[in-house]
Amino acid sequence: MKPLIIANWKMNPSTIKEAKELFNKVKKTGAIICAPFTYLSELKSDNLCAQNCYWEASGPYTGEISLDMLKDLGVAYVIIGHSERRVHFKETDEMINKKLKATLATDLRPILCIGEKKGEDAKEVIKKQLEQDLNGISKKDLDRIIIAYEPVWAIGTGDFCEASKAKESLESIKEKLNNKVLYGGSVNSKISKDYIDVGFDGLLVGGASLKVDEFIKINQNV
Ligand code: PEP
Repeated sequence: MKPLIIANWKMNPSTIKEAKELFNKVKKTGAIICAPFTYLSELKSDNLCAQNCYWEASGPYTGEISLDMLKDLGVAYVIIGHSERRVHFKETDEMINKKLKATLATDLRPILCIGEKKGEDAKEVIKKQLEQDLNGISKKDLDRIIIAYEPVWAIGTGDFCEASKAKESLESIKEKLNNKVLYGGSVNSKISKDYIDVGFDGLLVGGASLKVDEFIKINQNV
């Protein structure tokens, strides 16, 4: 099966004009594009992804975006629990669990990010995050979650986790779940295929997804 490639643009680019240009150049890859909220209505694709959501449907939650709002824009996927949200915005596993449950109550598909910080034991962190983030989710709903294994120390650092090492984490996830598992963390076109070769179902690409030629190569090489 064709590997699933997800582009996480994070808080980039700075204008709608640039976002449309980037999108038009990479859309033929068929990758899922996670654009900032303000660009989602401008990009026409069945493969649009939000970078976050809130679990409540509406109400006094200034600055938050609901799943109905995303659905109304035609968004099909949402990233939940990205480490940048866990670290900078203090998202807890309890909040992530609520976001997952709210997403699974819609037809959007959640992409759950998990992974250890530098010096932490990957296996233990994966076990704890999966237990807490997936707490109370039915087997049927569980199957709709895409897992992205992203060691925090590898994100945006250029210091990717070698595929042979990442495979150990893939195996500890697969011991518990039968879901699609992606690798993320400083992926580039030279190493993208290595992760597919060791059994990952796809890649979550951050920084390199903003570089048109490199992102196209990442897609071609897998
Ligand atoms: C990410 O944003 O999830 C990510 C993996 O970023 P990068 O590819 O830049 O490390």
